[in-house]
Amino acid sequence: MGLEDKLSELKARVTELSTLGEVMALLNWDQACYMPPGASEDRARQMAALGALIHDKATAPEMGQLVEDLAAELGDLNADTLEAREVYLAKERFEKTAKVPRELALEIIAAEARGHDTWVKAKRENDFAVFAPDLKRIFDLAKARAEYFKPYDHVYDVLLDDYERGMKTAEVQAVFNWLKPRQTELVRRILQAPQPDDSFLERDYDLEGQRKVGEYAVRKMGYDLNEGRIDRSDHPFTTSIGRGDVRFTMRYLPSVRSSLMAHMHEGGHALHSQGLNPEWRGMYLRRGPSSGIAESQSRLWENLVGRSREFWAFFMPVMQATFPEHLASVSAEQMYRGLNRVENSLIRIEADEATYNLHVMLRMELEIALLEGNLETRDLPEAWNEKMRANLGLTPPTDSLGVLQDMHWSSGLIGYFPTYSLGNLYASQFWNQLLKEQPGIPDQVARGEFGNILEWMREKVHRVGTRYDPQVILERATGERLNPKYYMDYLTEKYTEIYGL
Ligand code: ZN
Repeated sequence: MGLEDKLSELKARVTELSTLGEVMALLNWDQACYMPPGASEDRARQMAALGALIHDKATAPEMGQLVEDLAAELGDLNADTLEAREVYLAKERFEKTAKVPRELALEIIAAEARGHDTWVKAKRENDFAVFAPDLKRIFDLAKARAEYFKPYDHVYDVLLDDYERGMKTAEVQAVFNWLKPRQTELVRRILQAPQPDDSFLERDYDLEGQRKVGEYAVRKMGYDLNEGRIDRSDHPFTTSIGRGDVRFTMRYLPSVRSSLMAHMHEGGHALHSQGLNPEWRGMYLRRGPSSGIAESQSRLWENLVGRSREFWAFFMPVMQATFPEHLASVSAEQMYRGLNRVENSLIRIEADEATYNLHVMLRMELEIALLEGNLETRDLPEAWNEKMRANLGLTPPTDSLGVLQDMHWSSGLIGYFPTYSLGNLYASQFWNQLLKEQPGIPDQVARGEFGNILEWMREKVHRVGTRYDPQVILERATGERLNPKYYMDYLTEKYTEIYGL
């Protein structure tokens, strides 16, 4: 077989894997949105069967041989060509899956399924002990899996790399160590100033009205509902079921505080997926490069656009027309200040921009302590509460509101949390560059025009797919690798003005 034939065979195999992945995504989406509760056992069986099929195809010896042959024939996989990159990604994916013995891989899947169940129960009953043995097992298995990827500088590198290709633990720690005292100090100063009123956000807002304004906002951003849809689930998420089918889900509460921002957040993820290069269909190149880059796209729309003064100049009349009884007497300026109110809080997903990263740092520090063996799982609640007191000055009244609040660890997502903060930092760095190139953007936002933002993101991020590693994408777009200064400058400027610091 010649090189061309081998490349087409790789494409056929990757296409098949993506197709099966899309079927899995559809099963997942249906489970979250529409499946009757009685179907859960059957659905688990269907998903396990499909998961095993995907695993076997991804680790088939023929796939390994093909990737080896292609790598040998191409020689330099770091060459700046599409073929070299695609083979590099295929080789990396194959090795990540095939290096782990099948038995261990299946053990991990079983531990996570069990862990998720006991976590749900433990959180509901506020009883950490119910979850502790499974949590210990999940961390032990993660450590065992990392052994197959030696040598590494730090065991956490192996886990982090699954979500943020090429990023090192030491690099994230250096960024966080720079950020933490500065963010803490900013929050301390903010909390000494008088708080803006945000009581109008807490009134009983009609859910259909919330759905309508949310859909209007994401349509304006450029989300194409001809190739997507919005449904309801307990936890909002975005999923790609095919090239022309990028859906997201929402949850509505009587308070309007979160739903519009959640629409813009998931809408940002959906725009990223809808903007991937269609010519790379069936290739690893046509995937999101990392969780951090994915999160930069959602945070950019949610925070840098959606929580900006300019956005509310445009959007307040829309909100007032939909909710006249609640908002007729509230000004755009009051809305802007209310939505940007800062406070120390217990729950990460409800945290404001100024405190959010502090929640993430705490989780990363605990993950590392557990993996290094400096912390035992049974002592985790106490360690959690201690860090909450140190970082945010609060003691969780219960473990459900503390160490049990996130589902990530129960599903084996260890090393994932930092990517949320990286997303915040990347978003500010992209935004800074965009404004430098196009200073008219804020005026456009105030008129409800988002086309130039989307077009810039399409060119610099969406269409790039996984053509480059996250740091290279950042460097090509902004001229430098990750620099936390842009985020800190953004926060400082924004809150100094709002709180009159
Ligand atoms: Zn997100």
